[in-house]
Amino acid sequence: MESGNLSRGAFSLAPLAMVRLDLRKTRDLVADWSIPLESDRSYDHACVCALTNSADILDLNSAAQSIIALDGKARPDRLSHIIPEKLQKTFAKGLVALLQGKSFSMEGTVKSADGADFPAHIAGWTDIQTHERDQIIIGITKLDHPLGSNNTDILADLAHAARISMLGEMTASISHEVNQPLGSIVTSAEAGLRWLSHDKPDLEEVRSLLERIVASGRRAGNIISALKGLARNAKPERETVDIAGLIDEAVLILRSDLNRRQIGLRVEIAPDLPPAWIDRTQVLQVIVNLVSNAAQAMSDGQAWNRTLAIRARENRQKIVLEVEDSGPGVDPQVRERLFESFYTTKPTGIGMGLAICRSIIEAHDSKIELQSSPYLGARFSFTLATGPDADTAASPDSTDAA
Ligand code: ADP
Repeated sequence: MESGNLSRGAFSLAPLAMVRLDLRKTRDLVADWSIPLESDRSYDHACVCALTNSADILDLNSAAQSIIALDGKARPDRLSHIIPEKLQKTFAKGLVALLQGKSFSMEGTVKSADGADFPAHIAGWTDIQTHERDQIIIGITKLDHPLGSNNTDILADLAHAARISMLGEMTASISHEVNQPLGSIVTSAEAGLRWLSHDKPDLEEVRSLLERIVASGRRAGNIISALKGLARNAKPERETVDIAGLIDEAVLILRSDLNRRQIGLRVEIAPDLPPAWIDRTQVLQVIVNLVSNAAQAMSDGQAWNRTLAIRARENRQKIVLEVEDSGPGVDPQVRERLFESFYTTKPTGIGMGLAICRSIIEAHDSKIELQSSPYLGARFSFTLATGPDADTAASPDSTDAA
């Protein structure tokens, strides 16, 4: 059983039931039969059966093994053993969508290990961590209410579905996001060892390096908790947060990176700014992502004036937070896809940073906006609630929409 490059631990231990599929035969079938995604008529019974059973089941994680009917086998021979017939048409279309690089999600019953079918949410996404372009993951979540019975929670369910379909993406993003603090831990520890090997070790220097190691370690832990929180469908754990302090923390994390790239930083906090009502760790992650993207944009390009501004002010009882750079700005074509998961223009980028930022800010009932002109930099902004009461306040400020 091959698990590709997706961390074996992450795949097998994840609480979400996941099945890894190989769609090579499906791709051939779609090409041979010229099956389009949009035309309903093409999906007759024969086509649906062939598509559903063309997917090879490579691997099931333990969560999947515990809920899916396996009839004593390590894995089912075919998908039609798991997906009931009446769901197969939608599912087959989902497979074709996946081959076109899209994700899909649907609800329906799944055949369970104990014989009773259960209502489930099913989502599929490409496993970008493997080098096999046709390997995909299907995630199955048991629903705790019968299908279609719970309209009152429909928005929560939709939000959950969106997050579940991001789960595979989040698994990929953990390595992306945690890499930076881990890199900083190793660099600081190496520097500390060098200082200690001097004839007269400079203990003050070593102390400050150890402090940096502690801060980076905490940050890595916080990132993992935030990602776990999103995967669990946790609402942001809001608390009262001083925005100036939060920005200071983000700057502390990125200070050495900004210095290395010779970027001048301006922090402008409006006087008497009220505290925000937010999930501290999540919003810290957004600020760090935006600042780090801005820093990269300015050092990649021809920006001769490398200036980064972080601003916070109050507008209509909300806090407006902006991160503005003097980099090359965002190309109009790039702009359309900027917040898509895995969209990146960087050779070693993963394209998860802005997708995560958007998901966090939307979970805070707000919207992330971009203003940008070619060669004149980019400005990302969003609003934050200012107190427990503001939770139910009107929709996010969108005056900055470009
Ligand atoms: P990654 O940093 O891994 O590429 P992101 O989702 O954070 O992923 O960013 C997606 C893309 O958005 C980047 O590859 C880049 O093209 C563009 N981008 C993000 N921030 C900026 C910025 N401040 N200026 C110009 N382009 C940006």
